[in-house]
This record gives sequence, C-alpha cells and structure tokens, in this order.
Amino acid sequence: MATLTQLSAAVREKYEPVIGLEVHVQLLTATKIFCGCSTQFGAPPNTNVCPVCLGLPGALPVLNRKAVEFAVLAAQALNCQVRETSIFARKNYFYPDLPKGYQISQYDKPLAEHGYIEITAGKRIGITRLHLEEDAGKSLHEGFPDSATSSYIDLNRSGVPLIEIVSEPDMRSADEAHQYLTLLKEIILYTRVSDCNMEEGSLRCDANISVRPRGQEKFGTKTEIKNVNSFRFIREALEYEIDRQIEIIEGGGRIEQQTRLYNPAEGKTFGMRSKEQAHDYRYFPEPDLLPLVVDARWQQEIRSMLPELPEARRKRMVAQYAITEYDAGVLTANKNLADQFEEAAKAAKKPKRVANLVQSELMGRLKAKGLEIEKSPISMKGVAMSADLLEANTISSKILKDLYDKAFASGQDFPAVYEREKPQQITDTAAIEKIIDEVLAASPRQLEQYRAGKTTVIGFFVGQVMKASKGQASPALVNELLKKKLDGRN
Ligand SMILES: [Zn+2]
Repeated sequence: MATLTQLSAAVREKYEPVIGLEVHVQLLTATKIFCGCSTQFGAPPNTNVCPVCLGLPGALPVLNRKAVEFAVLAAQALNCQVRETSIFARKNYFYPDLPKGYQISQYDKPLAEHGYIEITAGKRIGITRLHLEEDAGKSLHEGFPDSATSSYIDLNRSGVPLIEIVSEPDMRSADEAHQYLTLLKEIILYTRVSDCNMEEGSLRCDANISVRPRGQEKFGTKTEIKNVNSFRFIREALEYEIDRQIEIIEGGGRIEQQTRLYNPAEGKTFGMRSKEQAHDYRYFPEPDLLPLVVDARWQQEIRSMLPELPEARRKRMVAQYAITEYDAGVLTANKNLADQFEEAAKAAKKPKRVANLVQSELMGRLKAKGLEIEKSPISMKGVAMSADLLEANTISSKILKDLYDKAFASGQDFPAVYEREKPQQITDTAAIEKIIDEVLAASPRQLEQYRAGKTTVIGFFVGQVMKASKGQASPALVNELLKKKLDGRN
C-alpha cells in the first residue's frame, strides 16, 4: 500500500479513529424478494426480469417468505432483537438502474435492532439495525465498443433480496474493522443465508470514518468510503483515510463531509461527491405492502434452524477433542473445514493428531494446489487413518509426508496410496542398532555433551538415525535402542 503521509507515531497517537460499517449481504433465495424472477448470477443481461422488478406501472410486489426467514436467521445469529412488526418504506431517489424511482427498503421500523458481534473477549461491536431491502439494477460503463459514449443497464439484479447490517460507530482502528467484517462474514456463512461472495457483489461494505482528539467525546466530521471490494482493501482504505484526516486537522484544515472512493492501485481514497447536505430520500411507508409481522412463534421456528455458531463451536471443539484454541480457530475458519475435521476427529484414535495433520500436512498442500477442502484428494477418512498409523508408530512422519505427496500427485486417497506403497518400516533391531552405532561414531561432540549431562541431545541423535534410515526406522524403536545404548555406555 502506498502511504501518503509522514505522520509520526506520536502525532497519530493524538487522535482516535471512529469507524462504523454498513454491510449489504445478498440472500441466497432462489427468487427475488418481491417477484418470482430467478436470482441466478451471470444470466444473460435483462433475462431475469418481469413487470414487478422492471418497475412497470400497476405491478404489485409480493413478499418472498424465504427472504424474511433468512433475514431473521441472520439477525438472530448476530444477537439482534427481531421486531414483531416491521414496515417496508420507499426510499426515493433517481438513478438509471432504479426503474421505479424508489427502492423498497425499511426505515424507522426495521426488521431487527440492538445486536452485536464480540470481536475479542470483552469488546463488542454494536449492531444498530438489520433490515430487508431490494437491490437495484447494475449500470455497466465498460467493456463495450461504444463505452466512451454509452452506458448499459442490466436489471437482473433489480429486486434481489438484501439485508443491510449497520454497525454502531464502535470500531477504533482499521484492524478492528477488519476483524468485525471477518467475523460477520463467518457468522453469515455459518447460517448459510448468503455465499458472501465479494467478487459477485453478494457482500458489499461501506465505511464511515472520522477521527477525534483522544479524550474528546464529540465525534469529528466523517467521510464515507464506498464500494470497496475486499476486506484487505477496506483495511488499507481506512488506514489511508485515518492518516489523511489527521494530516488535514494537524495542518489547521477542516474535514469535508463527503463520499470517497478507494483506488487500490494507488492506495489512496479520493473524493467522489460532497455530502454537505444529507440526502433527503423522502422515506414513506410502502403502500403496496402490508406491515411485516414475524410473531414469537415464527421467530422461534426460525431460531430452531440456527446452526451452532463459530464461537460456540470453537469452545466445544476445544473441550471435546482436547485441541488448542489456536487449532480450533484455524479449523473453524470455514464451516466445511470444521465439518470435515470433526468427521476425521471422531474416526481417529487421537483427535489432536488429526488437528495437527490437517494444519501441518493437509492445508499447505491444498493451498499450494489452489484446492478447497472439499476437493482434497485425501478424504477425512484418509486423514484419520494416517493419524492412527502415525499414532501407532506404524509409519514415521517422514513416510507420512511422502504418502501425502504421492496422494496429491496421483489424486488418490490416502488408504489407496498406503495400500499400494505398503511402506515398510525398519523394525529389525540389528539393522537399527547398526545405524545408531554409525551415527554415534560420527558425532563425537554431541556424544560428549550427552555424557556431560545434556540429555536433550538425544533428539539430535534420533533425527540423525531417522535421516540415515530415510525415515523408515520405527521412531519408537530408535528411541528405545538409543536410550539403551547411550545409558549403557554411561
Ligand atoms: Zn421480476
């Protein structure tokens, strides 16, 4: 990231950033929120449309029940209170991709309020509100022969259901904002109400940011950064914007309330439009839709569909499988990985061994091949089997690594590769003793140290023997024989 400023840490320390985030999440319903058109991404332009989502006069919206369920589920997962009666409202503005001239959203009576996400122990980021709304169409300005003079409109996205999740201005650094977004996405993915695919626009984020002298209660003037399409860029944009604002204030200037865009290539934000006057959307209740009633019974029904959420799952996994909190954090980073791990952990003799193998041997190889866990050539059954073999000392970790490499090279699962390779461990005592003698003879200095009382040197000898046997000696036997030999000589 390009930094513009030469701000010293001392100057930066004088100010406190205040950040609030507005996140739009597209719900994974099969059809749009007020009509039966498909929500499928990537369909030919203007093919998933009808009089309702085209905004033709006289067409009436009919609310999609599934969209309500998904929104309530997300709200519950985010610790929000769901309002029994919420009201749809028209948000009036003119834009070419909004054929009705208004967007159906919710205003003063949103679906849910007062939620939070705990980003670290004790630090909660408040969620002001979560409401339902329809998406607008898409304006396309590039990629056409006459792009210089024309823009195109695709209304396939018009009427796709969204939830907007508005946070309190509770974040105090770009890192906290990044953490909040990461957890928010994780929770939403667990509920399966959205795929949160940022490239396809299923998750979009706008950030409000201001700075104030530390100790001052009153917020500074904020700017809004819009349409940043990755979490990393949001962090960069916020870091840039914090410094930009501090620099202006330090120079005696005044922050102008405006909307800004972030250019990742330059690592800078730049002003898009002034927001001196707040937009007047002339909200009023949508006359074509009844108040939305989600009574206690329906709320309860939806709550029963709530899966175990990441935080609770991490705690349970630590207790159930005797793994560390760090392990649990890595293994629950996405739901599929966590599901797969648990499958293997249940099948294996020692779950902690599985946790180690998944992290040390499996994930690196998957990443190198650009594969998701579901596409792993080694199934979770295979991981469990390899963990048990390792645990029983039937194979060494060196052999395990070889077998994993072979599985990834051939696309075959671990049991098949193991069956084919039938790796033989050297369990012949005499053969191993011979190697031990050679190793000890070649390492007089270490032997001296061992005899002087530095018994940890045994690890070095084990390593040398394993290396000399090309990883095929049984580690348990090597340990045993080494101890015998060394202590016998003492
Ligand atoms: Zn439609």
